[in-house]
Amino acid sequence: MGAEPENIIAAHPSVLAITGPQQYESVLDAVHRAVPPQHNPFLDLVPPEGIKLTPRHYAYLKISEGCNHRCTFCIIPKLRGDLVSRPAADVMREAERLAKAGVKELLVISQDTSAYGTDIKYAASSWKNAAGETKEVRAKFYDLSAALGELGIWVRMHYVYPYPHVDEVIPLMAERKILPYLDIPFQHGSEEVLRRMKRPAHQDKSLERIARWREICPDITLRSTFIVGFPGETEAEFETLLQWLEEASLDRVGCFKYEPVRGAPSNNLPDHVPEEVKEERWHRFMKTQQVISARRLKRKVGTRQQVIIDSVGPSVAKGRSMADAPEIDGAVYVASRRPMRVGEIATVKIERADAYDLHGTAVGY
Ligand code: SF4
Repeated sequence: MGAEPENIIAAHPSVLAITGPQQYESVLDAVHRAVPPQHNPFLDLVPPEGIKLTPRHYAYLKISEGCNHRCTFCIIPKLRGDLVSRPAADVMREAERLAKAGVKELLVISQDTSAYGTDIKYAASSWKNAAGETKEVRAKFYDLSAALGELGIWVRMHYVYPYPHVDEVIPLMAERKILPYLDIPFQHGSEEVLRRMKRPAHQDKSLERIARWREICPDITLRSTFIVGFPGETEAEFETLLQWLEEASLDRVGCFKYEPVRGAPSNNLPDHVPEEVKEERWHRFMKTQQVISARRLKRKVGTRQQVIIDSVGPSVAKGRSMADAPEIDGAVYVASRRPMRVGEIATVKIERADAYDLHGTAVGY
């Protein structure tokens, strides 16, 4: 619906603004346009780092808006336009402010994180860091990752497409400058389906690349999303996807049944897959991946993991390891001999794994 704002305005003329999903900042901008905020140092509850709609210990850091690709199932470019990257100095200033305000984990987001800066020709910009030194950074995925990696907090990369230059960032993960975690929306394993989807950086050699990433950073966590039942998907193409999944052995996976979104070009593709076939394929996909994810998770039993605490209960605290992004991945349930604090990072000995989560005991604070 958001792709056709005029229809919403026609039905509800008093609506102030229409934004896309998760565009928190646009919602706040619209509110501020309607009711400009008046600064009152005695009453102002908004801290200088701004409003974050996430708990205090982690925050989303948006580095760009829009997208230059035209995947046939997606209306984001229609909603938000082409890629517009923030100057790297702006991003770094915000990141430092958040770190100073107590944020322990930054979740770097955009529509296409690895394309960051292509629209502004990777322009360098400078800012004064917390120590008062003037620093310069280019608006490039690697350079920004390296600069964020100097902040001494967790930095997690989301929505990274497997362009060749992504390989350069893997050593930063191996050195723990940024978290050994990549959220890469692969969407399918069949070349033909990917072509119909018009995916950027499609899967050619992706299995080899995954193997190489694991050589450089053996404990890297790979998360991805997929669509089953895309128009024209044959049984053979779906089976290629299942085989690809087996070989890729990803840690975390989300799967969606194809839904025709209003305004998406894929609606006009021939041979839409019947609902019952989509349903059946979704179940087969999930069954295959659940075995893989459980196998990957089980390898952690007996290891020690750094865990950031999200909430504290009467007997156990709930947190996440470096392998778990908030809200989309699993959790680590932590027993501790002393009460834990939200936002604290502890060393946890992993004792047990179930389908999605880990359980263990804090052994270092
Ligand atoms: S890369 Fe494709 S799916 Fe992602 S935002 Fe751009 S057009 Fe949409």
